[in-house]
Amino acid sequence: MSKAHFGLIGLGVMGENLVLNAERNGFSSVVYNRTFSKTQEFLNGRGANKKIEGAVDLQDFVDKLDRPRRILMMIKAGPAIDAVIDQISPYLQAGDLLIDGGNSEFRDTERRVAKLESKSFGYIGMGVSGGAKGAFDGPSMMPGGTKASYEAIENLVCKMAAQVDDGPCVTYIGPGGSGHFVKTVHNGIEYAIEQILAEAYDLMKRVAGMDGNEMANVFSSWNSTEELSSYLVEITEVCLRTKDPDDKSDLVEKIMDKAGQKGTGLWTVVSALELGASVPTIYSSLNARVISSMKTQRVKAESILNGPALKTFDMGDPSNGMPILMDAVIAASMASYAQGMDLLRIASDEYKYNLDMHSIAQIWKGGCIIRARLLKRIQDAFNADPKLLNLLLDPWFAGQINSRMSGLAKIVSGAAEAGIPVPCLSSTLDYINSYRTSRLPQNLVQAMRDCFGSHTYERVDKDGSFHTEWLE
Ligand code: NAP
Repeated sequence: MSKAHFGLIGLGVMGENLVLNAERNGFSSVVYNRTFSKTQEFLNGRGANKKIEGAVDLQDFVDKLDRPRRILMMIKAGPAIDAVIDQISPYLQAGDLLIDGGNSEFRDTERRVAKLESKSFGYIGMGVSGGAKGAFDGPSMMPGGTKASYEAIENLVCKMAAQVDDGPCVTYIGPGGSGHFVKTVHNGIEYAIEQILAEAYDLMKRVAGMDGNEMANVFSSWNSTEELSSYLVEITEVCLRTKDPDDKSDLVEKIMDKAGQKGTGLWTVVSALELGASVPTIYSSLNARVISSMKTQRVKAESILNGPALKTFDMGDPSNGMPILMDAVIAASMASYAQGMDLLRIASDEYKYNLDMHSIAQIWKGGCIIRARLLKRIQDAFNADPKLLNLLLDPWFAGQINSRMSGLAKIVSGAAEAGIPVPCLSSTLDYINSYRTSRLPQNLVQAMRDCFGSHTYERVDKDGSFHTEWLE
């Protein structure tokens, strides 16, 4: 019997869909799952009557694969990856390739690439985005490792990926853990945009008193614009229109208002802090999830801490897409992409990833959770200037921000006066206002630091390092 082209370890939500995708694209496959009953269930269900066979153990799995073996691990990130690498390595031969498609921490991937490549195996750390549906239809994939290892999987991943007007949504990202780093930042941007849309929903519901369908109509109109047309806006409309089958009320209102944060969102912010990148909108989305998880405390605090009474303010006519609120959402979404791209630029210099920002925008145009029409503009901006320091300095984006700042300020001040938290919108306003201010008050911070700790300061009028005996 001929050997299979592709091997998959881990029949979770993603693995199951990815192997069906590979098989549909002409790659006969072998699957292995730690719990064998899941393999049997899959082969008797969605995997039946396809060029997919099962393996009882890792030796059987490796034996059934054509060489050089191309093996995708789609399992829980963390120690499970190291465990599987250790278990499978004795059966592999030089040139065989392992791909980690999970959400691994990029430093873990750096270590694994170095270890496996030193044993003459290939190792690719590949971010995969698109959820279950994307994995089946065609995800966006961010593979990093050596160029030679990438070339050995290029045909496979190019066929499996989502396809957009200018090619597949996959490209060689760079060396080491760069693929997982880019996926991490993708998820950081995803956190921010989800929170921005949630803040818009909260304002529509509490300030404008709109119901699910009315809100969904506004999101639907936003989804038809160049600036906001995106997968996340599209599914927001769906979520708001969906009714509880029990009583036909808006289902979203029955959902507990707690969101977890772990892994990639947290790592984006930690990396930004480590690298000195400014990502306040992304950070605010993470913090919003942290505070949301304190449900018991929030319920108690509501009866203790006072705020302004809820009051209405103008967010624009809903039948016209609430243009003032839309300005705020657009500005914050653009700032989220700008912050994420800025973090990538800084990380690329620091870690010598040599990231091509234009290509990253291209592979995010389809398949992934943050796919949006705006990515074409981001692609154009980095095409025009591959060394662009901040997306908001690109003429088209600058024009957008300049025309929408007044709407953003109105929404943030209205929300503050109504006592409604809008952490991503307000941090975006401060981010842009800080970024466009040539003289910030950190001169006073420097004075204080020199006063209490003799930290010295620079002056604007002479070169050198200065100290003053402030307390004499
Ligand atoms: P998951 O729930 O993260 O993982 C389930 C799979 O991992 C199962 O096949 C499980 O085997 C296997 N596994 C867990 N610990 C193992 C170990 N110590 N040794 C061997 N196998 C082990 O599934 P998932 O949601 O499909 O995610 C897979 C990866 O993709 C994760 O890193 C996830 O973060 C990432 N990801 C997920 C999504 C998504 O939308 N779900 C999107 C992008 C990326 P058993 O059946 O034996 O337990």
